[in-house]
This record gives sequence, C-alpha cells and structure tokens, in this order.
Amino acid sequence: MKITFLGTGTSQGIPIIGSDHPVCLSSDPRDKRLRVSVLVEWDDYCYVVDCGPDFRQQMLRAGVSRIDGILFTHEHADHTMGLDDIRPFFFRQGDIPIYAHARVLGELRQRFPYIFVNGKDKYPGAPGVREFEVINNRPVSLGNMKVVPVNVMHNRLQVFGYRFGNFAYLTDVKTITDEEVRKVEGVEVLVINALRIKPHPSHLNLEEALKMVEKIKPGKAYFTHISHLLGFHEEVERALPENVFLAYDNLEVKI
Ligand SMILES: [Zn+2]
Repeated sequence: MKITFLGTGTSQGIPIIGSDHPVCLSSDPRDKRLRVSVLVEWDDYCYVVDCGPDFRQQMLRAGVSRIDGILFTHEHADHTMGLDDIRPFFFRQGDIPIYAHARVLGELRQRFPYIFVNGKDKYPGAPGVREFEVINNRPVSLGNMKVVPVNVMHNRLQVFGYRFGNFAYLTDVKTITDEEVRKVEGVEVLVINALRIKPHPSHLNLEEALKMVEKIKPGKAYFTHISHLLGFHEEVERALPENVFLAYDNLEVKI
C-alpha cells in the first residue's frame, strides 16, 4: 500500500494569504501545506480521503488520472469544497463513488445540488457521483479491502476516520472513545491531526496528539492538519519521539 500526502495544512493552508508570520514566509517546501487529503493506493485501487479546495492542484501535482472513489471525513469546507473538480474523472469514468456519513451526503447535496441531479434536467457539463452511506461499525468494501470507519469527535461534530488494513487516517480529532481507539490500536502507520502548540476546542494540539499516539501505539505516527502556529517543520520534527513525524505535502509512505 502506498499513502501519498496530498495536503497536510489546516483550513486556511500554509502560507495564509497576506500573512507575514515567519512560518508563512519559510522557504522550506515542507512548510507549504495545502488543505488535508491523502491518496491511498493498493493493488490497482486508488482512493482519495476528502476533497478540499485544493483538490484540482493536488490531483495535478500527484499525477492522478483515475480514482476509484472519495471518502469524506466530515462536511467542513476544507474537506469538501473541491467536489466540482471531479469533472475530469467523471468525463472519463462516469459517476464517481463517494463515501460519507448520511449527514455529510445531505450537506453535499445542499452545497452542490447540480451534481446530484439525474436524468434530462442535469446540466451537460456537471459531474455525477454515486453515493454510499458510511455507518459506524460497518466496514466499507473498497475494491478487495474492508475499510473500517472510526468514529471520532471534532468538538461536538461527529467525524469519520478510516482504517485501511495496517494504515489508519484520523483527522480533525479532538476526542476518541476507548472503544474507537481499539479499532486502530497497534496499526503500522497512524496519521492523526496536531494543529498547534496551544490547546484548541476542536483539534488535538501537539501535546494531546502525542498522548493519543501513546494510547494507540502505532509503529509510526505522522501528524497532519498543521497550522503555521505549530512552528517550522524542521524544528518541530527534531523534538518529536523517534517513531513520530510531521507529515508534509508530497510525502509518500509505503506499507
Ligand atoms: Zn479540517
């Protein structure tokens, strides 16, 4: 399995428009972060998790010409607003499968009504999707794999993480119950969010993310959904335990 980090930044991305914060001005390419998303590939399968406003650029940058589907973690704009840009995939492949909680599918229908129109009323250039509802405790069949949804909380909003075999992807987490932690315990590679140094009401900060890693005990952990307020990639990563890393855009991890 190959995991490609398409984006590792928080909702505004790094650099932030108009910001003169030193991290936003950094010339280290690892300090430039598009909105969070990962590409997960195994055998001949290729799935994307989330479809934020940088989706087009991310597909071009990673050279993706075909996708088998998109899994959504939740409905926030930084995870969904690129959905219109599935058009090139739709024109070649037909309706693109999307997987999300029923609430998130409802939100997508409201934001992109023209994508969900069927039959003769559909605008000719509009893309199409095939909807699959994700339900907690019911693994999702993707190709030859059963992907396990992991129910986490983003302050008071439910969010799905996903476990693909020995790889778990959890973003926008603030809290996880022990029952859900057991679904990802001991995975080879864990990706989890670590926003910044100071606490935040709906995201793990660095200290909380490190505690979560101790609880989940993965082989290796990579932090994502990073704000400029976490600091320079180089400096932050140097201070992390030896099996914990900061993810960065274009990083590939193989399992
Ligand atoms: Zn987010």
